[in-house]
Amino acid sequence: MFYPLTVRDFLDRAEQVYPDRVAVVDEPDQPAPSLGQLTYRQMATHARAQAARLDQLGVPVGGRVAVISQNSARLLTSFFGVSGWGRILVPINFRLAPAEIEYIVGHCGADVVFADPALKDVLDSLDGRVVRHKFVLGDDDALYLHDTEPRPWDDPDESATATINYTSGTTARPKGVQLTHRNLWLNATVFGLHETISDRDVLLHTLPMFHANGWGMPYAVTGIGGKHIVLRQVDGTEILRRIQSHGVTLMCAAPAVVNAALDAAADWDGPIPGAGTVRIVVAGAPPPTRTIERVITELGWEFCQIYGLTETSPIVTVNRMRAEWDDLPTHEQARRLGRAGAPALGVRVEVDVDNEVITASNHNLDGYWEQPDATAEAQRGNWFHTGDGGYLDEDGYLVISDRKKDVIISGGENVSSIEVEDVLTSHPAVREVAVIGIPDEKWGELVTGLVVTDGSDVTAEELIKHCRGSLAGYKCPKRIEFVETLARTATGKLQKYKLREPFWEGQDRQVN
Ligand code: AMP
Repeated sequence: MFYPLTVRDFLDRAEQVYPDRVAVVDEPDQPAPSLGQLTYRQMATHARAQAARLDQLGVPVGGRVAVISQNSARLLTSFFGVSGWGRILVPINFRLAPAEIEYIVGHCGADVVFADPALKDVLDSLDGRVVRHKFVLGDDDALYLHDTEPRPWDDPDESATATINYTSGTTARPKGVQLTHRNLWLNATVFGLHETISDRDVLLHTLPMFHANGWGMPYAVTGIGGKHIVLRQVDGTEILRRIQSHGVTLMCAAPAVVNAALDAAADWDGPIPGAGTVRIVVAGAPPPTRTIERVITELGWEFCQIYGLTETSPIVTVNRMRAEWDDLPTHEQARRLGRAGAPALGVRVEVDVDNEVITASNHNLDGYWEQPDATAEAQRGNWFHTGDGGYLDEDGYLVISDRKKDVIISGGENVSSIEVEDVLTSHPAVREVAVIGIPDEKWGELVTGLVVTDGSDVTAEELIKHCRGSLAGYKCPKRIEFVETLARTATGKLQKYKLREPFWEGQDRQVN
């Protein structure tokens, strides 16, 4: 007996087992009319109505449907309304500049684009020849929901692509990571198993859902009958308030979110919400031991870490308190939890001769959308090459210590150095440029441009403003340093490690 694993399984189970439970509490304050609370029956009805409309628009199985949105109940429902009936969901980072969004929509060949009302201008500006149907989430609910039953997906295939997630990497343009139903299914269940999620869990969406599909939690929490609490914008105090009012038990976040919560807790009156009940799963960058210790002692939350990439759906390793560490001092527990972790169930992790972390599992991407060369370069045999440098501790736990790829991670989002260098070089006063990440307490790494000018007195502000014209705000350099020359190899290649040296001196890891 073979029954294909598809993301519909998660919604079907929730609807069958927990029809009257609250599935999701939408963001109360947002430009679209809030959906308030939806039960799992209502969420499934919503997903079917979206799928029925896509039928009516003639979007075939395998057709791409893009959604550009901050976290919202409508975006969450689209994970099922689109992929559940065989189409491919393309969740796009809402922070990207209009030109970047247009590139992605064109590159994936989306038939339909949905956007949050706050992005209506971006939606309007999308070329009508590139995309046939455009809907504003909320405002156009009546237009994109249809009250008929969707056509069944006749031949569900677990190897079919369910989502394409664009990620900034080592190329000037983002690449579309194709994840299959099987990838997403196994990632979600393995993640859920390691974090012991149950139908008592209440997940606060502190992670953008577009980012690696919220690491798979939208599927896992739905399938297990837990509750989703939407958070549109990260704010430390608001996170504490929602934990208190909704009984939140679980969050996934980048280290910057943890810092926001710690800052808010310092000014919080009374016991910290979630002390003794919340577990927070952190990834994106290695959090400092001191931060982990503070989460344990000042917030009373359980600290967990995972490591992975969009390309690995994302779970590669997991790190969570284990019985053997119970009697260790908090500082030592925090040190151990500060490592990326041990391979998740079904995942193989090795470090190759160049210290690059490689991994083989059922979570590895099917390929980069229409980029076979990039796929062949990253996925060799069964092994995906992560571009991260690391080593295995004596207990087999992985430590990420370095980055081989030219990527900066700022506030949990990837920034391609090459992409920023391209834009800076297009300024007439710039002769040469190198973009590097430098350690920063708030953002982890700060995008920094080292610039050789043509001698004119261009200012740092002018260059940053120039970048804002074509790049998302988080990708723009926060700091510009004017330099005389840039270290290069004999063949003219930038020596980034040399350029980074003065900024990273004294740090034990070369990533932050
Ligand atoms: P993304 O594809 O945007 O999720 O970014 C993946 C990258 O984030 C990885 O290749 C790592 O460089 C970094 N990363 C993710 N999790 C961790 C972690 N726990 N520790 C260190 N770096 C991490």
